[in-house]
Amino acid sequence: MSQLESQSSLDNLQFVNRFTGQLPADPETGSRVREVSGACFSRVKPQQAPAPKLVAYAREVAQLLDISEADCQSQNFVDVFSGNQQLPGMDTFAMCYGGHQFGNWAGQLGDGRVINLGEIKNSQGEHWTLQLKGAGLTPYSRGADGLAVLRSSVREFLCSEAMFHLGVPTTRALCLLETGQQVVRDMFYNGDAKYEPGAIVCRVAPSFTRMGSFQLFPFRGELDRLKEFLDFTIRNDFPHLLDETIDLNNKSQAFEVYGKWFSEVCRTTAELMVEWMRVGFVHGVMNTDNLSILGLTIDYGPYGWLEDFNPGWTPNTTDAQGKRYAFGKQPQIAQWNLQQLANAVYQLMKEVEPFQEGLLLYNKTYNEGWQSMMAAKLGLQAYQPEDESLVNELLRVLQLTETDMTIFYRNLAEFDCETDHSNLTDEQLIDPIRDAYYKPEQLNANTIGPMANWLRHYQARIQQDGCSNVARKKAMNAVNPKYVLRNYLAQLAIDKAEEGDYSEVNELLDVLRKPYDEQPEKERFAKKRPDWARHRAGCSMLSCSS
Ligand code: AMP
Ligand code: MG
Repeated sequence: MSQLESQSSLDNLQFVNRFTGQLPADPETGSRVREVSGACFSRVKPQQAPAPKLVAYAREVAQLLDISEADCQSQNFVDVFSGNQQLPGMDTFAMCYGGHQFGNWAGQLGDGRVINLGEIKNSQGEHWTLQLKGAGLTPYSRGADGLAVLRSSVREFLCSEAMFHLGVPTTRALCLLETGQQVVRDMFYNGDAKYEPGAIVCRVAPSFTRMGSFQLFPFRGELDRLKEFLDFTIRNDFPHLLDETIDLNNKSQAFEVYGKWFSEVCRTTAELMVEWMRVGFVHGVMNTDNLSILGLTIDYGPYGWLEDFNPGWTPNTTDAQGKRYAFGKQPQIAQWNLQQLANAVYQLMKEVEPFQEGLLLYNKTYNEGWQSMMAAKLGLQAYQPEDESLVNELLRVLQLTETDMTIFYRNLAEFDCETDHSNLTDEQLIDPIRDAYYKPEQLNANTIGPMANWLRHYQARIQQDGCSNVARKKAMNAVNPKYVLRNYLAQLAIDKAEEGDYSEVNELLDVLRKPYDEQPEKERFAKKRPDWARHRAGCSMLSCSS
């Protein structure tokens, strides 16, 4: 083989490692479980995977890293992204952070089962951090094993990419591998522990910094470290907030930048919440350590997708009682998390106004974003104040009987607003959306009547806009996905993958690449949840055990 042929694009990855190069390290290396103070990370090596095997990869993410598709299919790729082989320039580490879990301060958390490989700079000058989830013990693993199982890794891999293709800000997933190691899990914490196949996802993002990354320093009285970390974050992840005249060692200049920074975090987090509400995504564990500082969706655990429209639904069995992280509560919880971030950074500044401003911006961004998002979902040209009743009435009507959110909006796009329907009965009027109902046999005047009335209201409103059926359908279908990662679809792909058949994972990934397209040959992935999946574990209820 010539020199050129033997060269892999993996060898060309240019590691720049700003995190480990510029921030204080834990002096101890290795995975001994410990409290790590005065440092932002600990150096630790991935565990060896006994028999790693590629399950799937995302060529779009490989492209971001300048890795060729051929190299994604090489043994070298498997060796590197199973953690078995390190490339020159990698500086592997686990991050130290804290957080509030379910509303309570939990102290030090950190990357318990994530090992960062390092940060690369691609040919476009973009920075991407690569990390392996499920690569073994770190100082932050506490009592757990640092591993991840196939079922949760399939879910993380597919959902990261599905969200990206939906246009929702998210961390990315380069690839999914089986490690060949069996891992013990008690899926529902009920004493029924089983062996499950171990797996690793390689996640990719401009930064994996979380709100909780800022909370641990002030808790420990390490305000110098907090400033160091905040300045680092601003320099590297928010460079547009700086120019050559700004000196972060000058108190008043720094405080002004911190205020702008907090406002930006508030704005991007609000925008993210609007997006989750648009597509029907429920994160499931919105602890402060699971919210990205860049407004990305991060840490896919017991998340779920709304099937029937129910703002009170949470997929997370650990949250079944309190329903703190239910679909409809997400915007309010994100703001609560921002308040905790504000409390942390406040310790540096002792000024409340910048934080109040940021939190107000959160409300404003969310409220305006929600209105334009709902207007777009309904195919309105713009949101008018009078539309509040149209929207609120719809949210009420959708909850009268189990109605699939995704199918409803796609079917609404088919509803003919140009023809006079005054000769139709309520039954006939709702016909175009009938397929969205989970229990069509239970429809009655109390469910059909309000929907029919709403459709009349809707038609009148659309006629005000003067928008044609064709134009409205096109606009609506560009914001209302046809294909989302329905909970049961992920489970079907997992069932097959656990038998060694990865075809369904790859087919789902492919369908989810074009979530707004009709893809008539892929219709089976657009079907509402079948009855068998209503109560099956993994389809409607999930735990944090992964
Ligand atoms: P999560 O709920 O996934 O955000 O996890 C909360 C904390 O527990 C984080 O610090 C995780 O890294 C850690 N953790 C979760 N699962 C494991 C595991 N299997 N091994 C080690 N640490 C874990
Ligand atoms: Mg987490």
